[in-house]
Amino acid sequence: MKASSGLSRLPELALRQRRQGLAKQLPPVTEILRGSLVERYVTCGNPACKCAQGERHGPLWYLTVTLGPGRTTGGIIAADQVDQVRGCIENYHQWKEHLEKISEINRELLRRQREQQRKRQRGGKR
Ligand SMILES: [Zn+2]
Repeated sequence: MKASSGLSRLPELALRQRRQGLAKQLPPVTEILRGSLVERYVTCGNPACKCAQGERHGPLWYLTVTLGPGRTTGGIIAADQVDQVRGCIENYHQWKEHLEKISEINRELLRRQREQQRKRQRGGKR
């Protein structure tokens, strides 16, 4: 995915407006969660239980969070927390996506600033 391709063709005002729009659309920063929600069906180990015949218990929900290479953490999520957790994970991805887009716009704006500076310097020598 190369999203930067179109930016160089947009006028500076449009870039600034787009950047402002991205910033405005961000969900509350207090409502973000990094990780993934995993659904599991489990057996309890009791050979007399229905789960031993294939009717497993669940769904049980877990949040798993990667901390680094080979390191994860997480915990059980109650059924009535699932929607909230799902929403917060979506918010996290939206933040990440928007930060990346804003960053891209800023790189383009920096490039133009430098270009204009160089033009001005060239103009001054004449
Ligand atoms: Zn069981």
